[in-house]
Amino acid sequence: MDFTLSPEHEALRRLVREFAENEVRPVAKAIDREHRVPMENLKKAAKLGLLGVPFPQEYGGMGAGETGYCILMEELGRVCTSTATCIGAHIGIGAMSIYLDGTEEQKRKYLVPLAQGEKIAAFALTEPGAGSDAAAIRTRAVREGDSYILDGMKHFITNGGFADIVTVLAVTNPALGARGGITAFIVETHWEGFKVAGAANKMGIRGTDTAELVFEDLRVPEENVLGRVGEGFVTFMKALDLGRLTLGAACLGGAQAALEASIAWAKARTAFGRSLAHMQTVQWMIADMAT
Ligand SMILES: Cc1cc2nc3c(=O)[nH]c(=O)nc-3n(C[C@H](O)[C@H](O)[C@H](O)COP(=O)(O)OP(=O)(O)OC[C@H]3O[C@@H](n4cnc5c(N)ncnc54)[C@H](O)[C@@H]3O)c2cc1C
Repeated sequence: MDFTLSPEHEALRRLVREFAENEVRPVAKAIDREHRVPMENLKKAAKLGLLGVPFPQEYGGMGAGETGYCILMEELGRVCTSTATCIGAHIGIGAMSIYLDGTEEQKRKYLVPLAQGEKIAAFALTEPGAGSDAAAIRTRAVREGDSYILDGMKHFITNGGFADIVTVLAVTNPALGARGGITAFIVETHWEGFKVAGAANKMGIRGTDTAELVFEDLRVPEENVLGRVGEGFVTFMKALDLGRLTLGAACLGGAQAALEASIAWAKARTAFGRSLAHMQTVQWMIADMAT
């Protein structure tokens, strides 16, 4: 199998690396220390088209597909895990769920501004009682006329505190559970009944917002059902498949950064009259990291 990247993907890597080195690296430590989302960098990323890398151009994206998206995440992960997580949640699960199962109308209305970075997305699945066991969610959506009324809460939602659009998973038929009883919705965060109740104080990736959301009598029009009624669990799992793939790419970028830092330190540090890089045990460790 040929893993050579196309000239377009190589150009994307250069673009992202330049952005990461010039804009992201200078603030990476500070945003982590200050627990601050780098909004200014999200705007710059949007201008470069980076908030829509995988999506087709007809939906406002760059058209670089999953490979391009992995390149984006790898390069961001090499410099700042927070920025990678923030952009990853926007593209890879928030906007992606709309791309995967949204109607043409929903894509035009929501995906286009998300891909162009005019709006920011979040993806709300996890609840205090439902993490790995995602099918145990309790947020309810009850049909009333031509709308659904959502009640419940979500936590650990990346970008949740400032997103414009959130895809939300809720139970529409408790008897059926994940097999036909869970539905996905597209929610605009300015709607009445949508509340941001707080944010997690984390040990790491502190330059991201990990919010707690509360829905109280939140009315969602039926045209904002994402995918088919009762099939939201599948929509969300499909989006997570892609999200996980690119988290792997971001971790690869982090590993690359660790290798680069180790080589630099091994060359710079001297002990017993020579640099660490001349000691075979250190060479082995670095070789292990590289292979
Ligand atoms: C920084 C951050 C950002 C996040 N962003 C989002 C987001 O944007 N949207 C969203 O919906 N969610 C988000 N999450 C939530 C994330 O998806 C959940 O944390 C994850 O699903 C795990 O759930 P939990 O934390 O409740 O852990 P639990 O499910 O309680 O798991 C606790 C531990 O038990 C282990 N475990 C659980 N089940 C099994 C099993 N069957 N076998 C063996 N071990 C098991 C787990 O691996 C884990 O180590 C985020 C979380 C974090 C930390």
